[in-house]
Amino acid sequence: MTDDLARYHRQTLLVGIGEAGQRRLLSSTAMVVGVGALGTIAADLLTRAGVGTLVLIDRDVVEFTNLQRQTLFDEADAAGSLPKAQAAARKLRAVNSAVRIEPVVADLTARSAEKLLGRHAVDVILDCTDNFATRYLLNDLSVKHGVPLVYGAAVGTTGMAMTMLPGRTVCLRCVFPDPPAPGVMPTCDTAGVLGPVTAMIGAHQAAEAIKILVGALDRVSPLLLEFDLWDNRRRGVDVSTLRESNADCPCCGKHDFAFLDGRVGVDTTVLCGRNSVQVTPPLELVHERLDLAALHHRLAPLGRFDVTPFHVRGTLFAPRAGVAPAGIQDDDDPPVPLTVTVFPDGRALIHGTTDPALARSVYARLIGS
Ligand SMILES: [Zn+2]
Repeated sequence: MTDDLARYHRQTLLVGIGEAGQRRLLSSTAMVVGVGALGTIAADLLTRAGVGTLVLIDRDVVEFTNLQRQTLFDEADAAGSLPKAQAAARKLRAVNSAVRIEPVVADLTARSAEKLLGRHAVDVILDCTDNFATRYLLNDLSVKHGVPLVYGAAVGTTGMAMTMLPGRTVCLRCVFPDPPAPGVMPTCDTAGVLGPVTAMIGAHQAAEAIKILVGALDRVSPLLLEFDLWDNRRRGVDVSTLRESNADCPCCGKHDFAFLDGRVGVDTTVLCGRNSVQVTPPLELVHERLDLAALHHRLAPLGRFDVTPFHVRGTLFAPRAGVAPAGIQDDDDPPVPLTVTVFPDGRALIHGTTDPALARSVYARLIGS
């Protein structure tokens, strides 16, 4: 065994990988979108496994409430409000200096997604995001460009995962044709999340990515997996049967990439002179008015919120939630608290910032879209 493979000895011993598989891994590129609970676990394992290049995309900064489960970050990262992609890159370079780590501090949008993918010859995408807008965008990106996608999600004590190989398996929209309406699904910020669940899903995603990168496609899981670590439930639904009817799928069947084309998605408008951003969910998804009383109940622990017949409005407790990415924040300047107003049609005004990425992030975490 040559020196460059020595550190991977316990991995090259595996029949499914061997030295040939390891060399494939060393020349591969993985893109991790969302460097939070799932992304830190998956990125750590892929770096240790020896992928050639790891692209890390995240729009947020590290906060103290992340440390319970986001294993690449520490208190200094949170105190400094470091961008997650940068903080993770620093840790991962210390873990394995042979891996090219490319942090991208950016919001993945319909406009930026193809540009980012085009900059790297990506062999696999890991969906470690916390919102449906980016998730459906990644599904379009995967199918259009034929790049495998490993989906993962976790909230509360449950996690879910599925691997998609364009042209060979179903896509996300074959299984879930449309994202849920805003305000309907719980988020980690409103319902909490158990660290071991995110670790389990992130590790599963890393395993699926390794199989893809070494070319063991026959070993990729054909199941939509669901775990509840609190209630000890696990379930695997074989979604391969949906393949027979996927000619009707708008994405992989009809090649209509509505999310990537920017026709459906979360929209933001910076309101000049008002230090606010308006966030508008896809109107197609808002079939009925939001239940404002229920939303108020969910948001109550996160700030001082009031409900009226017209909106839910309040100021977030966590001042760090309003901090712009590093460089903008001045230590002498206390962070500006964010005020959020949500209307029954799902539209929200985020007051206290002019950064669309921050507004989208807050929206995804509070309203869930
Ligand atoms: Zn499909």
